[in-house]
Amino acid sequence: MSAALPGDSTPAPLSLAPTAPCPCGRTAPLRDRKGRIVQTPVAFADCCGPYLDGGALAPDAERLMRSRYSAFVLLRADYIRATWHPDTCPDPLDVLEGTRWLGLTVQQHTPTGPDSATVSFVARWRRVGQGGGHAGRMAEISQFVREDGRWLYVDGVLGGPRGEAVVAPDADAG
Ligand SMILES: [Zn+2]
Repeated sequence: MSAALPGDSTPAPLSLAPTAPCPCGRTAPLRDRKGRIVQTPVAFADCCGPYLDGGALAPDAERLMRSRYSAFVLLRADYIRATWHPDTCPDPLDVLEGTRWLGLTVQQHTPTGPDSATVSFVARWRRVGQGGGHAGRMAEISQFVREDGRWLYVDGVLGGPRGEAVVAPDADAG
């Protein structure tokens, strides 16, 4: 562990009501009042909440990836670190600084072995702070492994499964 000062670079975590839609954006088919099946946002308490707050283990790489995205939204450095493979986790963990995450789309979850998988996703972001107002989206293919029953994020390569580039539509040159 480094001797970085607590609170020096890590913003305080945010809290979220259990009934709020989960930041990861997961939906499930539910019947509305007229009996029609509609995709409905899943509540935080029924989605990533038990992983972030209850010590439950994500059952697969996609659910872990979603819970880590929610942890980025909620500035939960503890959870991000706990689910990052110790061989690749940066120390100090400075990934929360200056970026706010606005939305997630999981594109593909591909098991590559009994204890390994990749998840490709697109996430929308906005830079805050100095020279703020920058927004864009990133595509990444993340690698996950399962060790001792726990899925862990190892690393990722930028770009999507169909070769999508990282794009930043709102970034202006001025
Ligand atoms: Zn979720």
